Amino acid sequence: TDAVVAVLMLLAFVHFSSEVNKWNISHVVTQRSGVIAVLKGDAYGHGAEQVAHHLVNCRAVDRIAMATVGEALQLRRSGIKCPIHVLGNLQSWEMQTCVLNGLIPTVSSKETIDGMGQVLKNLKPKQRVVDSNSKYANAPPGAIHIKVDTGMGRNGCLPQQLPGLVQACESNAVPLEGIFTHICFHEDEEYSRHQLELYDQLIAPYKDRNIFFHSSCSGPILLDMGTNYDFIRPGVAIYGMPPIAQIDEFEAQGYRPALTIKGTPTLVKCHPKGSKVGYACTYECQEDEEWIAAFPLGFGDGFWRALGHERGCIIRDKTGERCPVVGRVSMDAITVRLPCQPDENETFTIITADFDPVTSVTGIADAMGTISNEVLIRFAPRLPRVFR
Ligand code: PLP
Repeated sequence: TDAVVAVLMLLAFVHFSSEVNKWNISHVVTQRSGVIAVLKGDAYGHGAEQVAHHLVNCRAVDRIAMATVGEALQLRRSGIKCPIHVLGNLQSWEMQTCVLNGLIPTVSSKETIDGMGQVLKNLKPKQRVVDSNSKYANAPPGAIHIKVDTGMGRNGCLPQQLPGLVQACESNAVPLEGIFTHICFHEDEEYSRHQLELYDQLIAPYKDRNIFFHSSCSGPILLDMGTNYDFIRPGVAIYGMPPIAQIDEFEAQGYRPALTIKGTPTLVKCHPKGSKVGYACTYECQEDEEWIAAFPLGFGDGFWRALGHERGCIIRDKTGERCPVVGRVSMDAITVRLPCQPDENETFTIITADFDPVTSVTGIADAMGTISNEVLIRFAPRLPRVFR
């Protein structure tokens, strides 16, 4: 067995499905909208294939969204049959791949729609037919979603360009399946409301068409904003991670991180006083007998190098004691000072599935001056995942 594993409990999203309140995604989902689960970045570091199959198998989601065509293809090849969106801007060399694999690209310019029209025209008759088991049933080959920029200033066409893009779909016979926007959510709810109002105005002329509308990621969803459209697009909240600053409120609603990292030491030694530990000998044992354990994960696995020198600690499961990471963090290992000799196969928690200020993903994100997403995405694929 592996000495360090990332354990993922049932995803928070599914786990807390019975609660009904404004913070609860599942409530919003079951009442009104379909779900496009955002699993880009290897499902925010959790393991996209396993998470995708889990969510699809338990019918928690209708569709999946990835950032790139490459990521989306990987899911297709793993046997995921539901519609898969690609959220990044479509490039000309990716068009055919999208069409042939039932991937739904994001389009933000007229040139791209013209290019897509050309690709569709050049398809061989056989390629025009959707697979007989209707695996991408909800989306015809070549279906696109137009993204409109309502105030984030990143991807998406400018508001005034939207009518021209819709028109370009018609003239190029490109199936327009949806028009969406992205809310650059932060604590200023007013700005999000303003974005949603603009989106509503922009899509008004197309509301009676048979196309999908969607706007909201985790933050707005938890505030029940933009949840009245056809789909919602939760990402980080699926994994029980707060998209908002008020972690207390998030936790009070029953959300817990899905991921925990557990491990057993691969080697434990008792060092005499004065022994050096780690690269550059930055730690020196102070006691006559110090128990130093090596765990097989380091910055190459997403354990932050800055958490060496006792800035980070891990938890001894048996007693709850906090054990400091001493010396430098190596690429593939950390060294930890234990209070005594551990039992054989004793387990330790390296990342806790809570909001602890030191040992949790949110705590580490805070200490590193970043957001949970960046901490999560660094957990390397080589860390074995166990799904419970
Ligand atoms: N929708 C789009 C277009 C995105 O780019 C993202 C993430 O960046 C999401 C949804 C999911 O966001 P979150 O993780 O905040 O729920």
